[in-house]
Amino acid sequence: MSNVLDQRTTILVVEDEESFIDALAVGLQREGFRVEVARDGAEALELFELVQPDLILLDVMLPRVSGIDVCRQIRTTSQVPIIMVTAKASEIDTVVGLEVGADDYVSKPYRLRELVARMRAALRRASAEGRVATLPADDADVLEIGDVRLDADRHEVTIRGAQVALPLKEFELLDVLLSHAGRVLTRDTLISRVWGADYVGDTKTLDVHIKRLRAKVEADPSRPSRIVTIRGLGYKYELPKDPVRSQ
Ligand code: CA
Repeated sequence: MSNVLDQRTTILVVEDEESFIDALAVGLQREGFRVEVARDGAEALELFELVQPDLILLDVMLPRVSGIDVCRQIRTTSQVPIIMVTAKASEIDTVVGLEVGADDYVSKPYRLRELVARMRAALRRASAEGRVATLPADDADVLEIGDVRLDADRHEVTIRGAQVALPLKEFELLDVLLSHAGRVLTRDTLISRVWGADYVGDTKTLDVHIKRLRAKVEADPSRPSRIVTIRGLGYKYELPKDPVRSQ
């Protein structure tokens, strides 16, 4: 049995500006990508080996090892699609002139939509040229973990094979939980993602919505095994146990 989550296209985001990282990670996850983040060039090279990404978004100006050197080093062993990100449009000519072997170049600030279009184009080219083994995911806006499936485009949720109508905030909450499955999300993060950073209402709202979601998602809502409480922190959507490893 394979887990759909593990088949998603993995993007290694190499970026040292925190303000970009968060927005990019969330935006790309919404597009159906799995995202790994490296915050400097050395970490990028380590993570590249570890996660074997399908595409790398590589900032040029990085601490420790520059994006240029990271790109050159990766190109000695891999043809993985690489999109270089420059701080200014004027820098692109300089970077292109260095011929480091990147697939494409974008400059900050970029629109997520444009970036994703370029990423998909680079993935398609790499796939057509036989440079990568995996195909880009077709169901880009579908999250599926175990028997819970969320289609953001169609605004549909299917649980244990049956379609379930979720009110908007419950849908968004489930979307955030599924997109970050396996990771702890703090109460503050969940509230700001679903209700907005300027939310000033009762924090019990989150618990009420979690309770309603559990009633729909959990086999036994009184003993949650999917949306679990992490005491003192927040909540986590548990990934199904790997059937191979649990044997
Ligand atoms: Ca930078």
